Amino acid sequence: MATLVDGFGRVATNLRISVTDRCNMRCRYCMPAKGLDWLPKDELLSFEEIARLTRIFVSLGVDKVRLTGGEPLVRPGLAQLVGMLSNVPELKDLGLTTNGYYLEQQVSDLVNAGLQRVNVSLDSLKPEVFREIVRRDFFERVIAGLHAAKQTSLRPIKVNVVMLRGINDSEIEAFGHFARTEGFVVRFIEFMPIGKDDGWTPDSVVPTSEIKARLETIAALRPLEADHQYPAERYAFADGLGEIGFISSVTEPFCESCNRIRITSDGKLRTCLFALDETDLRTPLRRGVSDEELAAIIKDAVSRKWAGHLINQPDFVRPDRTMSSIGG
Ligand code: SAM
Ligand code: SF4
Repeated sequence: MATLVDGFGRVATNLRISVTDRCNMRCRYCMPAKGLDWLPKDELLSFEEIARLTRIFVSLGVDKVRLTGGEPLVRPGLAQLVGMLSNVPELKDLGLTTNGYYLEQQVSDLVNAGLQRVNVSLDSLKPEVFREIVRRDFFERVIAGLHAAKQTSLRPIKVNVVMLRGINDSEIEAFGHFARTEGFVVRFIEFMPIGKDDGWTPDSVVPTSEIKARLETIAALRPLEADHQYPAERYAFADGLGEIGFISSVTEPFCESCNRIRITSDGKLRTCLFALDETDLRTPLRRGVSDEELAAIIKDAVSRKWAGHLINQPDFVRPDRTMSSIGG
């Protein structure tokens, strides 16, 4: 099978597709309170364009796709796109990352259309802290979304938590108990310097080492076998109750084993979240080039993927785009 391999021998098999740059929340680490200038709708890839690109990526060896955004569930008819992608032969894994607000409403349509996994972002277990972080009073809706997901075949259900120093870091142990009692895989994501007006400083990052040590006061953590498709380090509490993941992009970057690539909602291929360049796929797509020509453009872009981001280096340059417009 053709593979997407870069100059460092890494093979791209995991594609994240942003279906919109819009969002109904305003998480302080992601976008400013007033929002961003949304793209005009005709600049977004259509479902047909996304499905065609997905077929091409899968023919090049991608076997996992995750739909994200912005908030993917604000894009009307998302279940229709899920149905189109779940029919792509050889796509083994189709997941969604969502803020959970519309999950209760949409989850059964999404599952019926072929969705296999869901990750829900939830940064606090306290409604008032949640409101302070996402700048919306949506806590109950997100919890209802998580519980609705539990009633379906979606497994595992992962909860993404960005820890922010001085804001929600008092809840590390509470999230450990949440994983143990609710059966969700709780994944702690280190705060990354990629939002607009996000207030990121090195001191605002709560390092994985600290979170791990505090969780171990509940029960010992036992490493689980790495799933090479995902960057999270996986652990289970040794007494068998609860699974935890850590995405330590800042303190323990995993660039050397990165297998991810991304398509933004306006059809740009990014080979790294922090990349400073991107490859336009939408223009050739709309110009009517063949699948073979698109495949050649994609292979060439992946072959040029850089070694990795430089967050901890003095010459680190933030990309112009926010996480919401890249597709986090
Ligand atoms: N709106 C959906 C959501 O929030 O799950 C999907 C898109 S969001 C950009 C994807 C993930 O990126 C979320 O889990 C969010 O917490 C995370 N994220 C956004 N900005 C981040 C940052 N500066 N550092 C770390 N994670 C971030
Ligand atoms: Fe929206 Fe997700 Fe960004 Fe929060 S993290 S503002 S929910 S895109």
